[in-house]
Amino acid sequence: MRIWISLARTLLLTSCGSAPQFTKYIPETLASNKENSNSATQPPSPEQPSPKHIPEHLLVFPASSFASPVGEKEYVTEKRDRSDEWYNALDFGESRHLGEDWNKNSGGDTDCGEPVYAAAAGEIVLAEDAGPGWGNVVIIEHTAPNGTKLRTLYGHLTTIDRNEGTVARREKIGTIGNANGRYKCHLHFELRSADSPLWSEPGPGYSDSREGSLDPSEFIRKTRR
Ligand SMILES: [Zn+2]
Repeated sequence: MRIWISLARTLLLTSCGSAPQFTKYIPETLASNKENSNSATQPPSPEQPSPKHIPEHLLVFPASSFASPVGEKEYVTEKRDRSDEWYNALDFGESRHLGEDWNKNSGGDTDCGEPVYAAAAGEIVLAEDAGPGWGNVVIIEHTAPNGTKLRTLYGHLTTIDRNEGTVARREKIGTIGNANGRYKCHLHFELRSADSPLWSEPGPGYSDSREGSLDPSEFIRKTRR
């Protein structure tokens, strides 16, 4: 396990992105998981689907039941453009990222304290300080009419405004933060399906395996139709 942790740290430290990287948070449950530890020592499978791929059986949520977790508009573009004040600084699947890093166009820490909204109606299943690499984290479970479940994760929050019970779509659940000063402020936002090995935990934020992790903005786009 020591070798794996050392290798994982090397990979984390050498992966480059426009957002700061996690360097210490390696959950014991992941480190001891044989499948995941193998994936850290082998190149990614060429059969791994495109990061943008959303399985059809997950597109069963009502139209427009998912929205953006940041911004005054219900939907914001991923580009740093003038259509809204927000952009995605590190995309899902880029540099092994398991989520999206949402920032204000104005950069730096100008988004500290901005509201973070539930992307869809659901039930809070986790709300806690998840350690130095994460800061405050909220996970919400969303259930489609046919019983299909997804979970969204909101990381590095300054405050947690809702820590239990049900929430409405776009209800404020917290504020954007910097994980107690570790990064420039941004929202790390993830979407997971129920086959995710990280279903009930914050997870590593970055991984060679995207099993059960989905591109949040791509999913939101597809459910708008
Ligand atoms: Zn991130």
